[in-house]
Amino acid sequence: MAASGAGIAEAVRGRARGLPDALLYCRSSDYHHVTPRNHPANTLKSWGHPNYRMATSRQTRDRAAELRTELSRHIRLYHVLSQPEITDAEYDALMRELQSLEAEHSELQTPDSPTQRIGAPPASGFEEVTHTVPLLSLSNVFGPDDLSAWHRRITEFLEIDRFDMVCEVKIDGLAIALTYEDGVLVRGATRGDGVTGEDVTANIRTIKSIPLRLEGGDYPPRLEVRGEIYFPKTAFDAFNEERVANGLPPYMNPRNSASGSLRQLDSRETAKRPLAGWMYSIGWFEADGDLLPSTHSGRLEALTRWGFKVNPWTRSAASLEAVEKAHADALSGRDGLGYQIDGMVIKVDDIGYQDRLGFVGREPRWATAYKFPPEQVTAILDEIRVSVGRTGALTPYAYFEEGVHVGGVVVHQASLHNEQDIRRKGIAAGQRVIVQRAGDVIPQVVGPAPGETPRDDYTLPDMCPVCGEAVLHDEDEAVVRCVNGRCPVQSQRLIEHFAGRGSMDIEGLGEKMAVILFNEKLVGDVADLYTLGGHREKLIEMERLGEISVDNLLAGIEASKSQPLSRLLSGLGILHVGGENAELLAGRFGSLKGLQDATGDDLTAIDGVGPRIAASVVDWFSHEGNQQIVDKLIAAGVDPREEMREPEDLPWTGLRFVVTGRMESYSRREAQAKIKSLGGTVSSTVSGKTSFVVVGAEPGSKYDKAVRLEVPILDEAAFLQKLDKEEGAS
Ligand SMILES: [Zn+2]
Repeated sequence: MAASGAGIAEAVRGRARGLPDALLYCRSSDYHHVTPRNHPANTLKSWGHPNYRMATSRQTRDRAAELRTELSRHIRLYHVLSQPEITDAEYDALMRELQSLEAEHSELQTPDSPTQRIGAPPASGFEEVTHTVPLLSLSNVFGPDDLSAWHRRITEFLEIDRFDMVCEVKIDGLAIALTYEDGVLVRGATRGDGVTGEDVTANIRTIKSIPLRLEGGDYPPRLEVRGEIYFPKTAFDAFNEERVANGLPPYMNPRNSASGSLRQLDSRETAKRPLAGWMYSIGWFEADGDLLPSTHSGRLEALTRWGFKVNPWTRSAASLEAVEKAHADALSGRDGLGYQIDGMVIKVDDIGYQDRLGFVGREPRWATAYKFPPEQVTAILDEIRVSVGRTGALTPYAYFEEGVHVGGVVVHQASLHNEQDIRRKGIAAGQRVIVQRAGDVIPQVVGPAPGETPRDDYTLPDMCPVCGEAVLHDEDEAVVRCVNGRCPVQSQRLIEHFAGRGSMDIEGLGEKMAVILFNEKLVGDVADLYTLGGHREKLIEMERLGEISVDNLLAGIEASKSQPLSRLLSGLGILHVGGENAELLAGRFGSLKGLQDATGDDLTAIDGVGPRIAASVVDWFSHEGNQQIVDKLIAAGVDPREEMREPEDLPWTGLRFVVTGRMESYSRREAQAKIKSLGGTVSSTVSGKTSFVVVGAEPGSKYDKAVRLEVPILDEAAFLQKLDKEEGAS
């Protein structure tokens, strides 16, 4: 029995450093079965020498490997297949044996060892992970009409009559991405914002239904598997009971608890929570020639074969009727499942179709979420309150003193839309009303609860609740507005919005602070925030504001200068510009000035930006007051730059295409999407500005016009060649 080369070398080095010869004995000892008190290993350990490292016998290594395999198998039998073969006590004994082996021989501790599931000591924070392929969000459909529109968009895009779909339940959990190299889990990351997530590998390893090593041999050498982590319902209830017994408040909903559990800095804490995971797709893979199945359903089977837990509730559907049937089944069966679901996901089964369909914005065209109807509860409506928005519109909302439990959260406010809507539904303060909430949307009051007498006498106040001026009833728009140009609320709301979570995220600058700053005439518009430092003394002298809170506020404002451009754009309150649109604009124009100089055509050239958004952006920047805000922001150093997808980077930027006639290889929409993806713009009419007219079979009048105007014409072959050249180059 010989020690490994490394073991001997280590032992020899140990001797050279003055450790006794006893160290060398262990290379032929087999002490993992019997480790007597006087064994050299124990003697050495007690010396606590920092350089001490035990050489490991082959038998020990073999036993460790055997234990790893056995334990992994039992974990899978229990957590994935629900077919345990041994008792918990037997399992624990095996685990303890492996733990003690690894404790003595740290080199035996592999990243796929089942002991890693127990958790590691706390980390100081999570590393950021940039996803190789972004984790996208899904579009939603809410009923048969939406669904058939989604289906039609696909058949039109691909110019096909039918396609197969796969329906899966939509788990209300937390999306994750797991990277495997040579079958070993090397990284687990949260979705984060879809582009950047957090490295939670140590925590992922504690989730026993996730394989640390893949089964079988037909997996690609590198791949990323995606799925959803969730807190099983019964485990959640038991977990809460224990919390309450320990005098801790119970958690409100399993989804948030799953998220909190997965983001524990101490993975030993995560290990105590019985999280589980369903895997549902392959994000990306690298393989030499080894191709994965060409259908989504085939890939789900592969995931199962490799040891992943794949949700058994998965249906193939070839027609919309079959999808509707599956949706109805999922809805009626949801309460019997051991986990929360909030709808069904429908995917195009053919991966080739998926690739051709691609994405629009951050949503794949080839999948959608078919949501369930929202949860409804009843509650006493204490008061109908009125808020005044950024545009001066008076908006009524419901207020619930005690709070209402709905859709997994407690809410105190719910939307009431507008005055007419309240009257039409017969809602009044003091009634018991129906409140509903679906997903992350704001809860709504649907109407009076059964048994309540509807009342149709609600009216909005005649005076602005903020400035006291008479309001204007705009019958056409069904909106009541405060039109007082000096009504402070609009500016205040904009400041509040600018500082909000989705925008510049300035801590300490909420509604109250926005009102104070505005009323004290310290801040008239959002750009004034960045000169607030000059008023530090005045702020400190003001009522209710201490030195610490003032300095925190100023530090928060200063820090916000480094927020990305997309957030700054969201914060400016440009109509229709926020979230994804703001990111699209920031990515294309790179700076405030860049966007300011953009024309309507520049804007609509972006895939995902329509004429409505373009008009709103151009309109906003054309106002002198807004131009001053932009200048003030830049002068104050608020001028974030985004790495631009430089127009020059895209080969067809500046080129205008018109597509006409029928092509063999692409549908018209697909061809248009290709052109846009290379930076070109697509227009519907041929003019002197048109760069190319792409002509398929039976082209019609656009072709004649192109000939007349001497616009270059590309037939299908020429278009494909041009496309190939550019796509090959990028
Ligand atoms: Zn007002």
